[in-house]
Amino acid sequence: MGRIGVGAMAVVGLVAVAAVAVAGVAVGRSVRSRRRWRRVLGVLRELEDACETPVGRLRQVVDAMAVEMHAGLASEGGSKLKMLLTFVDTLPNGNEKGIYYALDLGGTNFRVLQVQLEGRRSSIFPPEVEQQPIPQHLMTSTREDLFDFIAASLKEFVERKEVSFGYSPEKRRELGFTVSFPVKQTSVSSGILIRWTKGFAIHDMVGKDIAESLQLALARNGLNMRVVALVNDTVGTLALGHYHDPDTVAAVIIGTGTNACYVERTDAIIKCQGLVTTSGLMVVNMEWGSFWSSHLPRTSYDIDLDAESPNPNEQGFEKMISGMYLGEIVRRVILRMSQESDIFGASLSNLSIPFILRTPLMAAMHEDNSPDLREVDEKWREMLEVPEVPKKARKVIVKVCDIVTRRAARLAAAGIVGILKKIGRDGGSITGGRSRGDARMRRSVVAIEGGLYTSYTMFREYLLEALREILGEDDARHVILKVTEDGSGLGAALLAAASHSSTPPPNTVDSVQMP
Ligand code: ADP
Ligand code: MG
Repeated sequence: MGRIGVGAMAVVGLVAVAAVAVAGVAVGRSVRSRRRWRRVLGVLRELEDACETPVGRLRQVVDAMAVEMHAGLASEGGSKLKMLLTFVDTLPNGNEKGIYYALDLGGTNFRVLQVQLEGRRSSIFPPEVEQQPIPQHLMTSTREDLFDFIAASLKEFVERKEVSFGYSPEKRRELGFTVSFPVKQTSVSSGILIRWTKGFAIHDMVGKDIAESLQLALARNGLNMRVVALVNDTVGTLALGHYHDPDTVAAVIIGTGTNACYVERTDAIIKCQGLVTTSGLMVVNMEWGSFWSSHLPRTSYDIDLDAESPNPNEQGFEKMISGMYLGEIVRRVILRMSQESDIFGASLSNLSIPFILRTPLMAAMHEDNSPDLREVDEKWREMLEVPEVPKKARKVIVKVCDIVTRRAARLAAAGIVGILKKIGRDGGSITGGRSRGDARMRRSVVAIEGGLYTSYTMFREYLLEALREILGEDDARHVILKVTEDGSGLGAALLAAASHSSTPPPNTVDSVQMP
């Protein structure tokens, strides 16, 4: 055998050794990668278990909601649910007539609105609406500065809208004023601002009557207009719902945040003895975002999110179900997974940014129907500036979105049934006292609005499915969730009309018969 032959054999031998080594490395890598993948699936399974909401657990949440409602009505501070009095005992019923105004102050913009009502549930659409930003410097100035600015804009709006039928400065006008800041109502048209949120910091306003501050500014600016209703946005939604459908008994908002209100018997409001209204009823603003119960399925992600939030131990229900938080919960789960595996392609630093994953983006990934989940890949890459995401990682992302949204929607459904149970409109399927399909089950409408419910189809479908599961198909047919948008504007104008209109007073809460 010549040298070449020997050399060739030696090369062949080396190649063989190298091949075995490479294969060994590859096998080692794939074993490690399989192990990491198993850990990702482990995190996923753990999440799924911790977020489980079987109907039995949902019924416990229903009961807890009803119990907490009782406690919040029994005494001030008796429950995490504040159960605030609104002094609204008259809801619009469609008979209102006249021209009414509304002012909606809830964030960086304020809206003014004029609506003309002609009775018989006249078509109130489209109302005249204008929106304006609040100049930054006024958000931290004095209450006179802020309300003078708003009053001047309102006056200019009124003059423009009334010019066609002869603007008269003497004419008296009525206004509904919606405030999306925490307010303790002292009457239907007055209330004390508890604190500012959303970047406002006008210190001389806190602890003072916000409706009166507006009223004084209207007078200073020579606009003859009376604030006849001071309204929380859920109450506006209830009012608008009731205007269209007198069976409306509650309203729920599920958007960036979440809240609910409903019609209660005044004699059930124990903490306010001697409360008398002509209808015997009053709308109660639950502030249900702060509901809490040990039956809520809480995960380590919820605990961390709460601890790192600016308001720990507050708004517990809201942090599990509203649009502000769902994307953030998903981010926390995937961050945990990406500490186990690099399949998400995300550099930890990007995925570590709190609230980088907004809920609308989460919804877009969740609802991606393409066979290879192209949308998930695109959105993920855009958000985190990473290269292509492997298909199995895309599937995990969708699954996490699904678990988090499903839990949120089912808990929201349980909250709604909790309200129905409190007012005896759950048909007994929860209390178990009566058979399903009981003749006493009355049609109950819940007005609902907010971007999470209206724009996130999967969320909405899960919520409706859970309602049917909790109530049973028969009873669920009597519970109607009606999308009622723009209650914070229109609803306030309608409440102004209802609380002002007389001859005869449209005391329409009476049409909401309580058990
Ligand atoms: P707000 O609650 O701020 O008054 P909206 O009722 O319009 O306003 O709700 C907006 C919220 O709804 C957003 O913050 C977001 O969380 C959620 N949202 C809006 N659009 C979508 C969407 N397409 N998918 C999922 N969530 C959405
Ligand atoms: Mg809103």
